[in-house]
Amino acid sequence: MKYNRILLKLSGEALMGQQQYGIDAVRLMQYAEEIKTAAATGTQVAVVIGGGNIFRGVQAEAFGLDRVQGDYMGMLATVINSMALQSALEKLNVSTRLLSGVTIQRVCEPYIRRRALRHLEKGRVVIFGAGIGSPYFTTDSAASLRAIEIEADVVLKGTRVDGIYTADPEKDPTATRYPEITFDEVMAKNLNVMDMTAFTLCKENNLPIIVFDMNKHGNLQRLIAGENIGTRVSMDGSAARVPNTKPSTSYPPLTTPTEQA
Ligand code: UDP
Repeated sequence: MKYNRILLKLSGEALMGQQQYGIDAVRLMQYAEEIKTAAATGTQVAVVIGGGNIFRGVQAEAFGLDRVQGDYMGMLATVINSMALQSALEKLNVSTRLLSGVTIQRVCEPYIRRRALRHLEKGRVVIFGAGIGSPYFTTDSAASLRAIEIEADVVLKGTRVDGIYTADPEKDPTATRYPEITFDEVMAKNLNVMDMTAFTLCKENNLPIIVFDMNKHGNLQRLIAGENIGTRVSMDGSAARVPNTKPSTSYPPLTTPTEQA
């Protein structure tokens, strides 16, 4: 496998599937299956999951509520998603640990870096809940920070788009995908990869980010095997890549019953 240790970032919104809110059970199990297969390769897997499908701090401001309170509500939303993912993984007999940046001792361990490392070394999938545990941050920042702390080889940002494009591919049909790009180019072109705090953390610590389509079955394993998919952001914009030997058609897209309808 190309990587010894990865950090997978999933947005909370991705968990909604075709729903407007909350957790889509089919999508949740699909992600758990993908993570299970990735972990079975021997690569150590850590996961950060967002909370946007339930609550974001900025929503509190829109209601006229306190932003900091809203951010803590958002952090708790990430714990709910993390618990759902943990349960889905355990249903598939994957050994997991949930470590939270906000102490909730009935349901998760507190985040302690050395514990996280030990769990990973034992082959457990480690889920980091509650972001970094502080308001005014996002789970992208948590993904970058935790990845640096645990010395992950890469942040894999699973999205519904298969990489970084010259423009928003959902709005501009002429947009083209960058297979590789440097941190500096992303900043110069003002491309939206992660929020600036998260992005700067990766840049300053020379931690590559790969943006890829998590909804395509097999993509996570293909990345771990070193295949050339998504967009890789790194210091020099290049990467020693393993040639893509499998046709992408062998990986059908993930679908939910709603999407099939
Ligand atoms: N949040 C926070 N600190 C953190 C991580 C998250 O305050 O370290 C709050 C913030 O309000 C954020 C919400 O939790 O909007 C949910 O996280 P995020 O928006 O990153 O979720 P995603 O967009 O990935 O679903």
